[in-house]
Formats: sequence, structure tokens, C-alpha cells
Amino acid sequence: MTSDDHHAKPWETVRRGLLMLVSSPAGAGKTSLSRRLVADFADMILSVSATTRAPRPGEEEGREYFFKSRAEFEAMIAAGDFLEWAEVNGHLYGTPKAPVMAALEAGKDMMFDIDWQGAEQMAAQAPDDCVRIFILPPSWPDLARRLHARAQDSEAVIQARLALGKREITHWSAYDYVVVNKDFDRAYADLVHIYRAERMKPGRNPWLPPFVQDLLDEKV
Ligand code: 5GP
Repeated sequence: MTSDDHHAKPWETVRRGLLMLVSSPAGAGKTSLSRRLVADFADMILSVSATTRAPRPGEEEGREYFFKSRAEFEAMIAAGDFLEWAEVNGHLYGTPKAPVMAALEAGKDMMFDIDWQGAEQMAAQAPDDCVRIFILPPSWPDLARRLHARAQDSEAVIQARLALGKREITHWSAYDYVVVNKDFDRAYADLVHIYRAERMKPGRNPWLPPFVQDLLDEKV
């Protein structure tokens, strides 16, 4: 809020929400980075996906995911409830459509923690609204160490997640931005810079043309 806000014209509050898609191999810090951005910016909402995989220790229904059986998930696909969905490591994951529509209508931004297949599908549907960011780990041993430190998964699951992570990384160059998460605070600052810069694109601010017209109409 600035001291000038009470002079704001109605159209000055109009904004078009953006969709921030974040992908990375598991363990590169994407979840912590996304959750911090959502905590720090009131206009940013985190999308909660549906999945057929079982909850990990500490995960809660509706917070990390909506946990579904395969039959329930397939019924949601048939009903057209997903904006995108994909099979990752033998499990189905999908982005529920309704919360995204509600957020965009309310002028809010939304953040998505989705794999490259989901990011590709979303960007194809809404190219002007999506900003794609890929988070890379600083090194392979660092990624393995982070997955082991979580102590959430068995060794076999960790090895599968690392192998999947390598496949995910091969899609890095399709993204608009790449952040190497060597230092969390630095990577977070990079994410904030991307968010702020993307918010200033003319197309995301429908209030700009009338605002500029107002400036031009003023007597010099
Ligand atoms: P995890 O099981 O470790 O939580 O997630 C495995 C992978 O699925 C991650 O790469 C994550 O980004 C991806 N993922 C999570 N939710 C979705 C979703 O709604 N759609 C797609 N396409 N991928 C998702």
C-alpha cells in the first residue's frame, strides 16, 4: 500500500493471474522453495495435485496431495476434472482444474509443482499465462545426500527417484528459467526476482493501457 492508493481508479486493481510451473528432480528443493514463495506472497496460491501414490510419512490429505485410488483418479480424468495429468514412476498425478479457474478469476497467481509432462501440457494450453522454471541441484552427490537426509524412503525408492530425476533433468532446456539451488536463500531470491519481473509484463496488467491513456490525456 502506498499513500497514493486512495486515489486509485477502479481499473488500476485489475490484474491477470500468472501460472508459475516449477519442475526439478526430487530433492532439488522445489517444494521448499515453492512453499516459501506462497507463504511470502499473499497473491500466490499453491496448487494441490491429486495422486494415486500412497502418502509418505508426515504428508496430509489436502495439504501435500489429494490421495486417490486409481479408479477415483480415472473417474476424475473421464469427468474432465484435470487441467493436465501424467504418469510418473508408475503413479498418476494431476492438477485439479476448478481451483486454478477460481484463482485466475480472482486475479491470483498460482504455483505448480509438476513434472515436465505436466508443464508441457499446461504451457500448450495457456502459453501466455505460464512461466516455466526448472530447479537444478548443484551436483549429483548433493541430490543423493538430500534424498537420504529426508529419511522418507527406502534405499530402493531413493535409487528409483534418482533415476527418474536424471530423466527429468533432460527436459531442462524447454523451461523459461533455470535456477541452480546451491544455496537456498540465493535460489529463493532468484525465484522472487523471476516472479516480480514476470508480474510486470504488460499483458499481465490490463490496467496499463487505460493508465497510460490517462497520462497521455493529461495536459502537459
Ligand atoms: P512425488 O511423488 O515425489 O511427490 O512427485 C513425483 C513427481 O510428480 C514430481 O516430479 C512432481 O513434480 C510430479 N507431480 C506432482 N504433482 C503433479 C501433477 O499434478 N501433475 C504432474 N504432471 N506432475 C506432478
